[in-house]
Amino acid sequence: MRRGKTFIICGPSGVGKGTVVARLLASDPALYLSVSATTRLPRTGEEDGVHYHFLTRERFQEWIEAGDFLEYAQYVGNFYGTPRLYVDRAMDQGRDVLLDIDVQGAAQIHRQRPEAVRIFVAPPSWEELERRLIGRGTEDMEKVRSRLERGREEFSVAGGFDYFVINDTVDRAVEELRAIMLAEHCRPEERMALIDRK
Ligand code: ADP
Ligand code: 5GP
Repeated sequence: MRRGKTFIICGPSGVGKGTVVARLLASDPALYLSVSATTRLPRTGEEDGVHYHFLTRERFQEWIEAGDFLEYAQYVGNFYGTPRLYVDRAMDQGRDVLLDIDVQGAAQIHRQRPEAVRIFVAPPSWEELERRLIGRGTEDMEKVRSRLERGREEFSVAGGFDYFVINDTVDRAVEELRAIMLAEHCRPEERMALIDRK
């Protein structure tokens, strides 16, 4: 059986990664989304074990010390990490794995696993990103501003990624991600016919 591939989905908070990933998952039961661990508090409607594993700082530290994370990073005051075990198990089962993580996490994984595909999801404009962050209705303006600032920093390294997708409409972004995933499963010489890889 072929081993699954890892697709790292990065991009500013609020750009719509969760929305787009949910659409991909709904249409392909073989895809696996890694549920991250975080020290941030749950937003309304977020469930432990579904959206995140919500951990205390102490517990997060224990997971770090036990080597349980494939990568971890700090994002706007909280820690986030990818549990290693489930990712490797899904790949061994031949499933493709999606990681919704920040650029620091992507860099850590790239060092360990250069074959992981890095995709940067960008907003159509910074004004639209602000609207989406505010529209989510979960945070005050100070947090929204921190996320926007962090988003601009993330955008500055997007050129180093394998693919760049603008989340203008969800339909179009999902279609582009599907095309990328399909192309990555083809032999290299066939890829260019499907997509322009940088
Ligand atoms: P992220 O996971 O990147 O932080 P979310 O998936 O939570 O972002 O999306 C942030 C907000 O933007 C949500 O309210 C979502 O419904 C909205 N959204 C996502 N994609 C689009 C889009 N293409 N156009 C308009 N709004 C969008
Ligand atoms: P949010 O608080 O909006 O859920 O997430 C904030 C940022 O943390 C997002 O850009 C998201 O992609 C990133 N993130 C979520 N989980 C992980 C993870 O396991 N590792 C890293 N490095 N970043 C993560």
